[in-house]
Amino acid sequence: MKLHEHQGHELFRSYGIPVSKGIVAKTPREAREAAESIRGPVVVKAQVLVGGRGKAGGVKLAKNADEAETAARAILQLTIKSLPVEKLLVVAAEPPEQEYYVGLTVDRAEKGVTLMISASGGVDIEELASEEPHKIHKLSIFPATGIESASLDPLLSRVFGSDAERAETSIRKLYRLFVEKDCSLVEINPFARVSDGSLKALDAKINFDDNSLMKHSDIEELQSPEEYSVDEARAREVGLSFVNLGGDIGCIVNGAGLAMATMDLIKHAGGAPANFLDVGGSSNPEKVINAFEIILNNSRVKAILINIFGGITRCDDIANGILMAKKRIDIPVPVVIRLIGTNDREGREILKNAGLSALEDLTEAVMKVIELA
Ligand code: GDP
Ligand code: MN
Repeated sequence: MKLHEHQGHELFRSYGIPVSKGIVAKTPREAREAAESIRGPVVVKAQVLVGGRGKAGGVKLAKNADEAETAARAILQLTIKSLPVEKLLVVAAEPPEQEYYVGLTVDRAEKGVTLMISASGGVDIEELASEEPHKIHKLSIFPATGIESASLDPLLSRVFGSDAERAETSIRKLYRLFVEKDCSLVEINPFARVSDGSLKALDAKINFDDNSLMKHSDIEELQSPEEYSVDEARAREVGLSFVNLGGDIGCIVNGAGLAMATMDLIKHAGGAPANFLDVGGSSNPEKVINAFEIILNNSRVKAILINIFGGITRCDDIANGILMAKKRIDIPVPVVIRLIGTNDREGREILKNAGLSALEDLTEAVMKVIELA
């Protein structure tokens, strides 16, 4: 789950990481009012859940309330990386004297958290990462010991020079936030030295591990509906793991690994999966019905492949779920069923009595569904 910048600012504030005063605005008029109450120059910033706003024209400096209103009008008409701008953040402008970059991410290879810092922050950080990667310094943090001064301090002096002490205070707070809130990524770019000499987070990018959200109701509350498509949101509600992919073959599979393998096979055989969908390990027929409904909501779907490898999932339950779904909803596209594993004979029998057939071989099922699509 991702946070908008203004939400990230709030979280930073609660951890004592310095951010500028800001007000959220949804209309040019509100932006004007925000600028009037902040007084002095402001920066008007698009609030969308992607980076690169600056380069897309989504960050504008305004010297006064008039300019803020004009800037807001322009930014509210933008679509950044296919996301329409619906909200703005108006912040007191603090011209950066120096733009640093600070990031924290989970590094599976290092089995820890990696701190990334650079003295060359700003909107060109992606280019810097690919062209001059040595300018981004990294430090692995072992979660059991946390940040160790012996390795952090020399690195900070090298990157932050005389700003090192201030940087350290904020970086330690940022690390605490990262761990306590189960983040997968936190980035401050620019982390800037401003005119009074302090270091401020002029941007905030925060992603959380979705699997931890049940521990953090305060964070979960901040979820933006636009982060997920209607179908993905519906799938979350009913407990299905679902991702839209854009092809024309709907997939209902039990188990994430098998779902990945199924999509690979479809691709390999020249087809295009419409979605990833894991109905999970339980044998609840309701899940099959929900899965059908979500998949059929996508008008691009021309055929559906149900691939079940029954372990804990019982094939007879799945077969019953399919029959229930057929009774309850209109399924206007061909369905190919592959059933194998626990109670597959019973499952096949149930389907046969209803005039349906199920295959055993996955490759055969994949070829058939591609042909039908
Ligand atoms: P991003 O492009 O989506 O990462 O958006 P940022 O918030 O990082 O804005 C892009 C650039 O605008 C930054 O690198 C800064 O140079 C500048 N900028 C961002 N916020 C402020 C601010 O509060 N004051 C000033 N003066 N410049 C800012
Ligand atoms: Mn940025």
